[in-house]
Amino acid sequence: MAHVISDECVACGTCVDECPVGAISEGDGKYEINADECVDCGSCAAVCPTGAISAE
Ligand code: SF4
Repeated sequence: MAHVISDECVACGTCVDECPVGAISEGDGKYEINADECVDCGSCAAVCPTGAISAE
């Protein structure tokens, strides 16, 4: 299980600093979560202004 970022992402970068394991990086037009690193804490989902992050 991992959290995922949908196309609602506006690439603001707010979530990046919230991730305790550094699993979020900038992708092509939106941010992406490395499923192998994500520990499913939900910290990123709580701060996303567009609600683009959810549990897979
Ligand atoms: Fe990082 Fe937690 Fe979001 Fe997973 S759920 S990407 S570990 S902040």
